[in-house]
Amino acid sequence: MTNRLLIEIARPFVRAFSKRCEKDNRYVIEAALHKYVDKNEKLCFSCNLKSKILNPFISRTASSMGISDKNLEWALKNKYIRDAVACAVEGVGDFGFLEPAVCLYLMVWNFTKLCNFKCPHCYENAGAAHPNELSIDEKYMVVDQFVEARGRHIAISGGEPTIHPDFKDVVKYIKSKNLLVSVASNGSRFCDERFTKEIAPYLTFVQLSLDSPFAEKHDEFRNFPGSFEMVRKAARNLNEYGVNVAYAYFVSKSSLPDIPGMIELAKIDGVDLVLYDYKCVGRARDMVSEDPTPKEREKLYDYLCSFVKGKQKKEKPMVYVIHPRYGVKTIEHDVPQFQASHFTPYEIPEGFGKAKMIGSFIGGCGAGTKKIDLEPDGTLIVCVNMPIPLGNVRETTIKEVWKSSPTLWKLRDRNNLKGTCRECEYVKSCGGCRAEAFGYTGDYLESDPSCILVNPSGNYKNLEKTLFE
Ligand code: SF4
Ligand code: SF4
Repeated sequence: MTNRLLIEIARPFVRAFSKRCEKDNRYVIEAALHKYVDKNEKLCFSCNLKSKILNPFISRTASSMGISDKNLEWALKNKYIRDAVACAVEGVGDFGFLEPAVCLYLMVWNFTKLCNFKCPHCYENAGAAHPNELSIDEKYMVVDQFVEARGRHIAISGGEPTIHPDFKDVVKYIKSKNLLVSVASNGSRFCDERFTKEIAPYLTFVQLSLDSPFAEKHDEFRNFPGSFEMVRKAARNLNEYGVNVAYAYFVSKSSLPDIPGMIELAKIDGVDLVLYDYKCVGRARDMVSEDPTPKEREKLYDYLCSFVKGKQKKEKPMVYVIHPRYGVKTIEHDVPQFQASHFTPYEIPEGFGKAKMIGSFIGGCGAGTKKIDLEPDGTLIVCVNMPIPLGNVRETTIKEVWKSSPTLWKLRDRNNLKGTCRECEYVKSCGGCRAEAFGYTGDYLESDPSCILVNPSGNYKNLEKTLFE
């Protein structure tokens, strides 16, 4: 019997198990995966029984994907990965075996437009708060809607979310639902030790923006003297209270040469590094000449792959790139830190399954398949880098939009893509950054012009007409 047929037969059972257990305050499949690797895990009678039924499916599916018992155990001991796997299994129950799989894992929430900085590359054009931002009760409603849609991870961004008066209460509420919470911040509140101590137990991961390994350059870019040292202090505070930290670095033509320096600084400070490549959105549209050419990006990805290959496994920093083309390069270079999507925060050990096959399941660009994003006024959007509106949580629900939005369904079927991306052998495991295509051409299904296979001459100029219309 083929795996696909087996999956079709198993779907009704998966759906029956795709529930949240209020007694254990967690999802049944995630609880079963936990029990699979930790026999001492305490579960209610019903979850215990269900975990016994699911055990044979877990080992059979893993071995059919080439995942050894040792690696399976390593992966499932990690709540991040367990939640992602459970979410993917539930997605198969809901939508069938699709490549890429459709399952709502992440919501990036632009919590507020309020910001104490005014950075030139801000995708949200932040500064003053939006006049119609969600009230605190509406924010709690958003979290409830996300739970109802079986989402797992909320990444709070902004503006600067930590300076908003609702921030702490909402973070605590999200955590009370046993969801993962991460935050993208400029660091201005986390450099206050009391604030960090109070909120750290609720946070899984914090990303701190740092635009240069040199203090003067960062402070000038941020137009905020002392902000470089402020970010490093924030990283120290968060590290001290056990929160995973990464520096988020904006990749532009001017900042490319300082990437080795950033890697070095991240290593010294004991944090990871997330490279946000230029996206043509928000205030960054005014600095389009700063977009690295596809050739420059390719050179960067090759450099990163050789760095990752040469480093010790547990050594900091882990490096992530917010572009699915980098995932393709990690497959081609056969590096142990295979990046199946830019939401994969942990190192995949060597020999972990068949990278390309897992990549096709996870799908590279998560727009429409793994994530939905939210604006401060409750508008659901495809991606923070591609703010196409899908409905408002005041009038509809996240679950409803996730199930029925025509835009999301167009993005889910990679046969709808155009040009080189559609024909590419990596269309399922990459799919191009849809925000790059949308930013330059106005068509989210077009080929991604920042990829060397699509745009070998590196000429964005012929696209600028659309851009500036
Ligand atoms: S052509 Fe498109 S799908 Fe292929 S690697 Fe480039 S961006 Fe990804
Ligand atoms: S559109 Fe780009 S930034 Fe958004 S999820 Fe896809 S790859 Fe990431």
